[in-house]
Amino acid sequence: VKLFYEGKAKRVYGTENLNEVEIEFKNSLTAFNALKKGEFDQKGAVNLSISEILFAQLEKAKIKTHFVRKISENRIRALQVQIIPLEVVVRNRIAGSLAKKMGLEEGGELPFPVVEFYYKSDELQDPFLNDDQIYALKLADQNEVSNLKKQVLEINKVLKPLFQNIGIALVDFKVEFGKTPAGEIILADEISPDCARLWDLKSGEKMDKDRFRRDLGQVKEMYEEVLRRLKTV
Ligand code: UDP
Repeated sequence: VKLFYEGKAKRVYGTENLNEVEIEFKNSLTAFNALKKGEFDQKGAVNLSISEILFAQLEKAKIKTHFVRKISENRIRALQVQIIPLEVVVRNRIAGSLAKKMGLEEGGELPFPVVEFYYKSDELQDPFLNDDQIYALKLADQNEVSNLKKQVLEINKVLKPLFQNIGIALVDFKVEFGKTPAGEIILADEISPDCARLWDLKSGEKMDKDRFRRDLGQVKEMYEEVLRRLKTV
């Protein structure tokens, strides 16, 4: 198998089937555009399992994903797609960069889920883009942007109550979409504690990558706890 691409948390390999790739989930953990690096044993496997459960729930709700099947504890088969270079973020509560730029406390509920786009570029540190900037720079057209917004809000509608049911607040998350050779836009990449803020509803404890970003400890334990709870849904 040929290595197509290596990113911060994944490796993508070609397969005998031109329409499919194999994706390896690495144990590495990075933050602040890879300025901070770490890892933990089984991290790839835990994130893969979390993503697999969430993608299966999304598929049940008729949201298409690139997931085909699990190959081993840290590898999946996925549909080959062209990743759209936009990080699509949904926020249910104020946290992270939104809290920071507005000088607000983290935790406040937003009156409706807020969608934001960032240009996927480590070099440029994933700059925020508004809709007009996306069209003018031809990163996506109006139909594609409304498609992305619609899908990400659907995803939020499935995931927010799902996490609520296992005692977790889905504060915000980031997803990436890809285009199939037929031109369809489907959910790609992963959904895991690496790209979502997950807070325990009772204790308020963070159960996501902020534990690593902010040196809170018990990173592995919390990722494993998220998986343990998701296995009950
Ligand atoms: N996020 C991500 N990758 C990025 C930037 C953000 O997965 O490159 C996720 C992050 O984990 C959080 C959400 O997107 O769940 C919103 O992130 P925010 O804009 O608050 O940025 P942060 O301060 O977390 O980098």
